Amino acid sequence: MEEAKPDATNYLRQCHNKLWTRSQFSTICKVDYVTNNLTESFNNWIKQYKSLNLDDLMDKIRQLLMLKWNQRRKIGKKLDGLILPHIIKLLNEKSRELSLEVAECSKEVAEVTTLGGSGFRFVMNLVDRTCSCRQWQVSGISSKHTLAFVTSLANEPIEKHVDFYYSIEAMQEG
Ligand SMILES: [Zn+2]
Repeated sequence: MEEAKPDATNYLRQCHNKLWTRSQFSTICKVDYVTNNLTESFNNWIKQYKSLNLDDLMDKIRQLLMLKWNQRRKIGKKLDGLILPHIIKLLNEKSRELSLEVAECSKEVAEVTTLGGSGFRFVMNLVDRTCSCRQWQVSGISSKHTLAFVTSLANEPIEKHVDFYYSIEAMQEG
């Protein structure tokens, strides 16, 4: 990219030096949002309370979060399975029509090559829960490379390779 579009690279370094590449994302929080939609939703959620004094505003936010977590906990108790349904749906959609070649190194490690196009190669480790594209580490949701490996294995459920943050158990615990 630096060779093909040096201006774009400079722009990204100056204006988005921490956000434009997955290689710089922390792996502590598992999130697949790369927009500020979450912030906008939160601001909209609390906008009617913004005129409160800071301590009252913080207390109101605490109460709103408490109510939201309780609501989600109740919803979670009605769900069956291991992983949240929208994540399973996403993984099932992503696992269709994978144009990838899997080279199995061991039961837990494989190298996956993109067929046609770039021919990029990615290495994943099911035990460490890593893929060299870093999507798995950053989002907690298996990348398509990982899915290609997992679906090539016999009796290996895709739910097993999703972070605990997306589990129904985590939602029930709140
Ligand atoms: Zn990957």
